[in-house]
Amino acid sequence: MNHDDLLLWSKRAADWAHEYHATLRDRPVRAPLVPGAVAGQLPRTPPEAAEPMEAIFADFERIALPGMTHWQHPRFFAYFPANAAPASMLAEQLANAIAAQGMIWQTSPAATEIEQVMVDWLRQALDLPPGMVGTIHDSATTATLSAVLTMRERALGWQGNAAGLSGQPRLRLYASAETHSSVDKAARLSGIGQDNLVKIPTDPGLSMRPEALALLIDADRRAGALPAGVILCAGGTSVGAFDRIGDCIAVARAAGVPVHVDAAWAGSAMICPEFRPLWAGIEGADSLVFNPHKWLGAQFDCAVQFVSDPGAQIRTLGLRPAYLATPGEDEITNFNEWTVPLGRRFRALKLWFLIRAYGLDGLRSRIRNHVAWAEQAARDLAALPGVEIVTPPSLSLFTFALSAGCGATEALLARINDDGRLYLTPTRHQGRSVIRVQVGQFDCTAEDVAMIARVVGQLM
Ligand SMILES: *Cc1c(COP(=O)(O)O)cnc(C)c1O
Repeated sequence: MNHDDLLLWSKRAADWAHEYHATLRDRPVRAPLVPGAVAGQLPRTPPEAAEPMEAIFADFERIALPGMTHWQHPRFFAYFPANAAPASMLAEQLANAIAAQGMIWQTSPAATEIEQVMVDWLRQALDLPPGMVGTIHDSATTATLSAVLTMRERALGWQGNAAGLSGQPRLRLYASAETHSSVDKAARLSGIGQDNLVKIPTDPGLSMRPEALALLIDADRRAGALPAGVILCAGGTSVGAFDRIGDCIAVARAAGVPVHVDAAWAGSAMICPEFRPLWAGIEGADSLVFNPHKWLGAQFDCAVQFVSDPGAQIRTLGLRPAYLATPGEDEITNFNEWTVPLGRRFRALKLWFLIRAYGLDGLRSRIRNHVAWAEQAARDLAALPGVEIVTPPSLSLFTFALSAGCGATEALLARINDDGRLYLTPTRHQGRSVIRVQVGQFDCTAEDVAMIARVVGQLM
């Protein structure tokens, strides 16, 4: 295949994509396959001879497509969305065509400079303080790991990277049990250790108890340990829990401990001023991550981390070997020094296209609709005899279950997902099996969301 063939095939792919999106509503949302069904159709050994693209494309449709779960299906209510607004898909096509590797400013100045401006556009859209700057990571997991590594180095007086952790005081991190498993992963990968991630008890509103945080930090200090950082949750993955951000930051500040906030999902909603009371006090965070690739509409992957002091993170993650030196490097930003990988895709382009093509107003109205439709869906479900709303809508996420004596909730969920019109996922809340509903797919309509209660009613 050469670039002339690519021209023909990319036109064909564009037609295919248009047809795919136009017919998504008629497909089952979740891949209805058994394990091994896709792999079993592939040859066991790679081809020695070149194959015609016609055959490769046909196998894509025949073998790969039936094994796909349709994340852009308007009735995808599982997990969280991984939205890909059409304008951001277009930007990804262009970034793919150029296929630049933006590891340092010099390797594509536009990639770095557009990233700086897009992060600042988003900072303004979220109403974060002017001093906050940031960068784009692949995922919230990597952003949180970067923040935790920075916490570790700061706590150790910048000695951990050079000397290693053996012989150092015991470091401690604090989070609530509602935070995402990426926080556990960061505790492990940073060498701080899972046993040193203290899960602070929550109050009835599912916020970490700030007074418990204060007591535990104090007890650790008295025992000779080194409190390194607090990770707060603004929109937990299971049921959408929010820590009381301002109160918890005040405790951490008083104790001299930095704070990272995980708003991977809910951060997108904060472009709407009316939702910002949910994270009141956010301006005091040292670090904050949110994923425009979830609710906002930037095609996966795109996780934005804001920091109040980039110097601390650069001191932790940055290296400048001679082969990456750029003349006059004092005035430039090399974003690889802010992140774990060296190589970087041109992710800022899709933010630029997204924000311009829909405007903040267009993005806000989608999110507002999703929240209002989720609230309506919760009311409709609550009106079905035998259905209980277990956790009320947190933005556009709520959970429900069957009441005692009305059948098994897990069996109902299996019937819903086998039916194919909807896709919902399970979680556990306070020991109970529940079904999660989140509304957030970019193209979903009020009618798509209204189908949730209808399908549940039919399948109960
Ligand atoms: C999705 C999610 C994550 C993980 O996001 P990745 O970008 O996939 O690493 C972390 N925290 C929360 C609250 C999430 O919803």
